[in-house]
Amino acid sequence: MTYPIITKKRHPHDTWRLADYEQARATFSWGEARTWLSGLPDGRGLNMGFEAVDRHVEAGHGAWEALRCVAADDSVTSVSYAELAADTSRFANVLTTLGTSPQERVFTLLGRRRELYTSVLGTLRARRVLCPLFSAFGPEPVRQRMALGDARVLVTTEALYRRKVEAIRPLLPGLTHVLLVGSVDDPPAGTRVLEDLMAQAAPKFTVPPTDPEDMALLHFTSGTTGRPKGAVHVHDAVVAHHATASFALDLGPRDVYWCTADPGWVTGTSYGIIAPLTHGATLVVDEGEFDVHRWYRILDTQNVAVWYTAPTAIRMLMRATPRGSGSGLPGPYDLSALRFIASVGEPLNPEAVVWGQEVLGLPVHDNWWQTETGAIMIANYASSDIRPGSMGRPLPGVHAAVLERGQDGRAAVVDGHVRPVSRPGVEGELALRPGWPSMFRGYLDDRARYEACFADGWYLTGDLAKRDQDGWYWFVGRADDVIKSAGHLIGPFEVESALMEHPAVAEAGVIGRPDPVVGAVVKAFVSLKPGYEAADALKRELLAFGRQRLGTAVAPREIDFDQNLPKTRSGKVMRRLLRARELGLPEGDLSTLESPA
Ligand code: ATP
Ligand code: MG
Repeated sequence: MTYPIITKKRHPHDTWRLADYEQARATFSWGEARTWLSGLPDGRGLNMGFEAVDRHVEAGHGAWEALRCVAADDSVTSVSYAELAADTSRFANVLTTLGTSPQERVFTLLGRRRELYTSVLGTLRARRVLCPLFSAFGPEPVRQRMALGDARVLVTTEALYRRKVEAIRPLLPGLTHVLLVGSVDDPPAGTRVLEDLMAQAAPKFTVPPTDPEDMALLHFTSGTTGRPKGAVHVHDAVVAHHATASFALDLGPRDVYWCTADPGWVTGTSYGIIAPLTHGATLVVDEGEFDVHRWYRILDTQNVAVWYTAPTAIRMLMRATPRGSGSGLPGPYDLSALRFIASVGEPLNPEAVVWGQEVLGLPVHDNWWQTETGAIMIANYASSDIRPGSMGRPLPGVHAAVLERGQDGRAAVVDGHVRPVSRPGVEGELALRPGWPSMFRGYLDDRARYEACFADGWYLTGDLAKRDQDGWYWFVGRADDVIKSAGHLIGPFEVESALMEHPAVAEAGVIGRPDPVVGAVVKAFVSLKPGYEAADALKRELLAFGRQRLGTAVAPREIDFDQNLPKTRSGKVMRRLLRARELGLPEGDLSTLESPA
């Protein structure tokens, strides 16, 4: 089903820095974007932490609100840019006093709380390398990543340390410092209380000269495919964080901005901390639980202007406040400060965009990028009209293509050459021309795997997409998820989106079940909205609905109801796990699974 284009209307507070997409694309350069930042004084380089913190203080904006921490009980603590500078200076001085050196690795295993921001930005300002971990990781994934990443320092809480680190500590001889935040009853052996160290440290710290090519961030990917890969990012990436936050998130000084991404994931750092602060925005730091009413309440009471979240969160809102419920805006909440919602991490079903427009009266902007790309690459440009179901267009400075694929579904490389597809609408592997500042510089200690990502001057993303005649990109699937059935290549996302148009369906995960006759049979796992019962009659209705929407070649042949679809911590449906369970295969690495129950 094709959805009408949604015309973008300007909200009174929209910034739209370079409002005309075509013109921005034609004139923009990364060199120009560097001039939007300050750089270190006296040409001493470029440092992410400096751009996020120091430059606002130096420009006389120290009193601006940097963090607005909303505790579980809704009480609010504000932290100004000047306070953030003092906190992060103390932290940087602690790192120095402990005897750590530039480029050594500082890991965080923390939920969203003030000390997380102190640690991340203090580490960057001190030119140490930051590696954030999901606080829900168990001991083994923590050990594996800290060993791979050569952890020297870990910042965590007493409870997390006792549960996840204490037992594996002997296996990490390089981990010389463990700093505990929050209240500490009885510091375990080999740990220090950060607050005590901070109290003795000076609140001033001068960011040292930083080469833009110095390593800044180490990010492990979401593990949708199962093997942890450590993507290396450098300080120059901040140029892309800043510019893309203008183009895709429309951020400007003092905007109240909220990113729900877990701080253990690349979005939680790049757009949960760095990019918005480089704009002088105010970050909402939600210390409470994942809960639809809490989200609506915070959006309302904190007057959030831009909300960056994931399709799974939007689908939770849709489940709680369905279309046609007649109430207009969701209940008593006032979302008039909200300009738009942006979404990332997984395909955004067109139904979700239509829902946003109808129920919230708000545009929902899809964004595509990867841990490897370090910043948003293809997105709904803030000022442009929206085509529901499309990821948008390459941002200024980004050159993308759809490449013809070979037998294995990935780009066909013939004599070292690849070929863009010949016509609009043809599916192929999505590729990008390297050259933007936040492009990863390697997978840690895995040269071969890094090199395998490139062919003929292109970075191959591993995702399949198509481009329409107007240059909009449409996500088809991950190359590793695509289903080959009776000679057709089927992207699970198309099937999932069609099922979601049915009023009973809250979420869907689609896989191919091997079949001797057709190669693979399309099978869907579906969770239902409240008020619907998992009955055979509904199953038959959904199968018929699928056939009517998609045609028999593509429609699911089998449907199972499952109210708890497996998801990664970053909110992605884990199709490989659905497939493994279906086939009775080993489940593989589940470290990034949301709730391993
Ligand atoms: P791994 O590489 O370890 O298997 P991952 O690819 O899920 O994990 P990330 O880098 O967090 O790790 O996710 C990037 C991937 O997420 C993209 O390659 C794409 O498959 C998916 N993705 C991100 N944004 C979108 C989007 N807007 N639409 C569709 N898919 C998206
Ligand atoms: Mg990936």
